[in-house]
Amino acid sequence: MRKILLESLLRRPVTDRPPALDDAELTALAARIDVAARRHLGRSLAIREVDAGSCNGCELEINALQNAVYDLERFGLHFVASPRHADVLLVTGPVTKNMRIALERTYEAVPAPKWVIAAGDCAVSGGLFAGSYACVGPVAAVVPVSLEIPGCPPTPTELLRGLLTLLGS
Ligand code: SF4
Repeated sequence: MRKILLESLLRRPVTDRPPALDDAELTALAARIDVAARRHLGRSLAIREVDAGSCNGCELEINALQNAVYDLERFGLHFVASPRHADVLLVTGPVTKNMRIALERTYEAVPAPKWVIAAGDCAVSGGLFAGSYACVGPVAAVVPVSLEIPGCPPTPTELLRGLLTLLGS
C-alpha cells in the first residue's frame, strides 16, 4: 500500500493535459458555429448519439463536447435521450450485427427531415473492425449518411468542425 501511495505521488498523471482555454482555432470555430446555428436553426439542434459497436474511444471525445472547454450547448446544440426528439443521429463504431436492428429502429424513430453523421473511422469505413464476422460494416451500409467525420477517434475540435459543415457554413 505504501509503495502504491509513494508511486502515485511521484508519477506524472496518465491523463492528457487539458486543452488551452485561449486556443485561437477553437475560439474561431466557436464563433462560426454560433453564427451558423443562429442562421439555420434558430439556436436549436437536437443530437441523439448512437453507439453502434464502438470501443467507446469516440464516446469519450463526444462527451468532451459537453465540458466547460467546448460547451456545445452554448450554440443551442444539445444531446437528447430519445430519437423522437432528435434532428441528428451521431453514430459511432462499426455497425455490429447485434446493433443493426437497433440502429435501423432508431433511424426510423427520428422525425424527418433528419441527418446522420458517421463519427470516427469505424463508423466511416469499418476501421479496425472492417471485415469482422461480427460487423455488418460502416454506418452507410445500414442507414443513409449525410456527413462523415473521420479520425480514431475524432477530436472534439474535429467533431465541432463536422457539425459546422452540417450547418452549411
Ligand atoms: S474510430 Fe477508433 S476510437 Fe472510434 S470506435 Fe473505432 S477504434 Fe474506437
